[in-house]
Amino acid sequence: MLGGTVTNGGVNFPGLFHAWGRQVIAGIGWELVTRRVVEAGGTLPNFAGTAVPHWQHHVRVNSFLYAALCDEAVVDAGVDTLMHTMLARVVPDSEANGWLVTLCTKCGLTSRRTAILIDATGDANVTALAGFRSTLPIERSPRQLRPARASHLYGHRSSRRRDGRAQRVDWS
Ligand SMILES: Cc1cc2nc3c(=O)[nH]c(=O)nc-3n(C[C@H](O)[C@H](O)[C@H](O)COP(=O)(O)OP(=O)(O)OC[C@H]3O[C@@H](n4cnc5c(N)ncnc54)[C@H](O)[C@@H]3O)c2cc1C
Repeated sequence: MLGGTVTNGGVNFPGLFHAWGRQVIAGIGWELVTRRVVEAGGTLPNFAGTAVPHWQHHVRVNSFLYAALCDEAVVDAGVDTLMHTMLARVVPDSEANGWLVTLCTKCGLTSRRTAILIDATGDANVTALAGFRSTLPIERSPRQLRPARASHLYGHRSSRRRDGRAQRVDWS
C-alpha cells in the first residue's frame, strides 16, 4: 500500500510540522494528515504549546485510512500505479535515451521503458540497481531504531557492532 513509513513501516504518528508554535512544514504530507483528521472526525494537537514534549505535536493516524487517502490523491492526480511490485533490473535504454526497467509483479516479470526514473524507495534501491554509487554512513545514531522490521520489509541484512557502528549492509 502507499504511505511508506507511515503505513508499511508502522510509524503512524507523523510529525513535526510545527516549530515553536509556527508551522514550518506543509505540502502533500501535511494535506494528507489533516484530511485524515477531517475524515475520521478527530482533532489536531494544539501546536501553539511550546512547553510540551515534541511527541505531543505528532498526529496519530489510522494507517489504513491514510493509505486510502494516499490512493485517492494519486488517482486524483491521474497517476497510474502498479501495486505489489518490486524492481528487478534497471539498465540504460540506448534506443530511447532513457531507462529499461524490469519489474517483478504478482504475475511475473514485466518491462517498462521510461524517460525519467524517480527513486522513492527510501533506500536508494533504484539508484543502486541503475549502477550508481550510494553512501551509507558508518556512524549511526546509537538511538536509531533497530532495523529489524524494516529488514524484513526491504530485504537487507545489516550487521551492527555493540557500539552502534554499522559494519556491513548486504542487499542480496
Ligand atoms: C521511527 C521513525 C520515526 C520517524 N519520525 C519522524 C518525524 O517525526 N518527522 C519526520 O519528518 N520524519 C520522521 N521519520 C523519517 C520519515 O519517516 C522518513 O524520512 C520518510 O518516511 C521517508 O519517506 P520516503 O517516502 O522517502 O520513504 P519511505 O516512507 O521509506 O517509503 C518508501 C516506500 O518504498 C517502498 N519500497 C522500498 N523499496 C522498494 C523496492 N525495491 N521496490 C518497490 N518499492 C519499494 C517501501 O515499501 C515504502 O512504501 C521517522 C522514521 C522512523 C523510522
